[in-house]
Amino acid sequence: MKHRRYLIYVLILLAIGGLVVGAILVKRPQSVSVSKSKFIMDTVVEIRATGLDPEAAIDAAFLEMERVELVFSRHLKDSIVTKINQQAGQWVTVTEEVLALLGKALHYSALSSGAFDITIGRLVDLWGFGTGANQVPNEMELRQALGSIGYRGVEVDANAKRVMIPAGAKIDLGGIAKGYAVDQAQKVLEAAGIKSGMIYAGGDITTIGAKPDGSTWRVGVQHPRDSAKLIAVVELENKTIVTSGDYERYFIDNGIRYHHIINPHTGYPTQGVISVTVYGPEAADADALSTAVFVLGMERGCELIESLPGYEAIIVDQSGNIWVSSGLADEVELR
Ligand code: ADP
Ligand code: MG
Repeated sequence: MKHRRYLIYVLILLAIGGLVVGAILVKRPQSVSVSKSKFIMDTVVEIRATGLDPEAAIDAAFLEMERVELVFSRHLKDSIVTKINQQAGQWVTVTEEVLALLGKALHYSALSSGAFDITIGRLVDLWGFGTGANQVPNEMELRQALGSIGYRGVEVDANAKRVMIPAGAKIDLGGIAKGYAVDQAQKVLEAAGIKSGMIYAGGDITTIGAKPDGSTWRVGVQHPRDSAKLIAVVELENKTIVTSGDYERYFIDNGIRYHHIINPHTGYPTQGVISVTVYGPEAADADALSTAVFVLGMERGCELIESLPGYEAIIVDQSGNIWVSSGLADEVELR
């Protein structure tokens, strides 16, 4: 009897020991946080992600952003946008993806009465944005380029999946493609199982879930005249913010600041507003809206934002006035 009880104790101890050793050997997969940066679309893109294999997810997201750049950049010779521009005046067959983003761009053109206009290409070239050789164009050149502007001239044949722009025109998706790339990167991260992450692409910020410690992501909006200062901190929960400013790409000539957002009606870089941050569910839409509001100016820009459910904004004018749209009050803390 005594021996049998002793044997049972030994067996129980062995079983417990086995379980402990087993648990140590079969190590539970650990969630880790990784942050990586890459230069894509002429800007530094940083992605942070937490998950079982965040590095692979981040690499896949970068690859997707590079793919988007290859399709929509007008500075890459094999892109579809380059082809549309080279074959202006002729139909060009395109993918569903190109149809969709062009459709979105044209939607925001109509909504902003042409303040956002992807046929801005020749004007952007004249001012040297994109090529790096900045100069103030002469009036003649400006007038000629203005003749090629007009989003209504962009023909989209969705059934036959083809697009045609007027001869002499050039489209430039610089005001919307980066936002779209960020949306795509977010989808790739989520499909890879990332439940907490952040994508930062030169002023465009999208977050996934909450921070690794469970708290809400809080992101700063840069002061347009002092990069060391913030004008606001915004709480982001599965939302995006996109900022357009006159302080990233500009040159100064005779004391005047000329930046890369151009009024399609005058041909000149816009004046009045110096920073626009748009908050909402999708970065492509927020990107187009930030550029549109920039051109529209404070008053008409506020009106446009207030008319759109889902999208909010923080607008700063050249006198330093800051306007925050009515739906953003709870998420924003002004500095
Ligand atoms: P960033 O690219 O610095 O984030 P934006 O999103 O405001 O800034 O986009 C500016 C870019 O959009 C310009 O570099 C140019 O390619 C293009 N662009 C400039 N003016 C307009 C406009 N009125 N409508 C549409 N696109 C524009
Ligand atoms: Mg934009």
